Amino acid sequence: MCIDLHLHSFYSDGILSPGELVRMAVANGLEGIALTDHDTVEGIEEFLDHARHDITLIPGFEVSALHRGISVHILGYGVDHRNNELLSGLRKLQEGREKRNREIIGKLRDMGHDIRIEELEAVSTHGQTGRPHIARLLKEKGIVRTPNDAFTLFFGKKGPAWVKRFAYSAAESIGMIHQAGGIAVLAHPGKIDCHPGNISLFIAELTERGLDGIEVYHPSHPPAVEKKLRQIAEKYQLVLSGGSDYHGNHKNFSSMAGGTGGFCPPSSLLQALLGRMKTRLQA
Ligand code: AMP
Ligand code: FE
Ligand code: FE
Ligand code: ZN
Repeated sequence: MCIDLHLHSFYSDGILSPGELVRMAVANGLEGIALTDHDTVEGIEEFLDHARHDITLIPGFEVSALHRGISVHILGYGVDHRNNELLSGLRKLQEGREKRNREIIGKLRDMGHDIRIEELEAVSTHGQTGRPHIARLLKEKGIVRTPNDAFTLFFGKKGPAWVKRFAYSAAESIGMIHQAGGIAVLAHPGKIDCHPGNISLFIAELTERGLDGIEVYHPSHPPAVEKKLRQIAEKYQLVLSGGSDYHGNHKNFSSMAGGTGGFCPPSSLLQALLGRMKTRLQA
């Protein structure tokens, strides 16, 4: 049996609703899933409305943060989605997104492209709006051929319309998750832009700052990385997690666990994760 603790809905840059994700997870025979939209818990209420006896639903979110100037993604699992401090913490990230979206559109207009901020509403009907939505709009307008081209040509890290946005430090992000009753799990450590030889030290530092676990199973991790991460988790007594990072059936993304792709984080991880969540709550 498998689990999938990293899923995006249309409350951020996924294309399915939280309810559709639950339905697909049940069809795939998953034992547990987590909703982890970027910088928002807006979809959690709807997600939990679809609770059923045959699957564990974990409320979560994914936040981009900085540690030593390097970008990391941190998953918060089991947070209280009504927690005021969490909501105001997320608000600051959301304002940062809005500001960046305006700046990116401004740069694209300066480059002579016919695109307006109001047009984004049609491609982002719920929750948070980000570069993937701008990419979809550019594709619809025939300015790029694929959303991926929008990243390469315009607003990927090296593009002419790249804009930085506000981010908390990893320590602040972990603190925000803990105070909302959740556990902090480092997402796809294999994607972190640091020397492979330094990843263990990097994770050790985050552990000192309260990190609870790492996402060992991710479609971007080759077997050797998975193995190394398992050893690191054991060394620092971190819980193991796994998820597909499913965004709906976009070309560039993986499919949900338990599907035809063969990706399957084992459901045996679930007990340890739920146990850690319980311990955190009691702490
Ligand atoms: P943002 O949240 O606005 O910073 O955009 C980051 C999101 O864009 C990531 O979570 C991915 O879902 C998506 N993304 C990143 N790189 C690409 C790419 N090359 N093509 C399509 N989508 C991408
Ligand atoms: Fe995304
Ligand atoms: Fe991520
Ligand atoms: Zn993600």
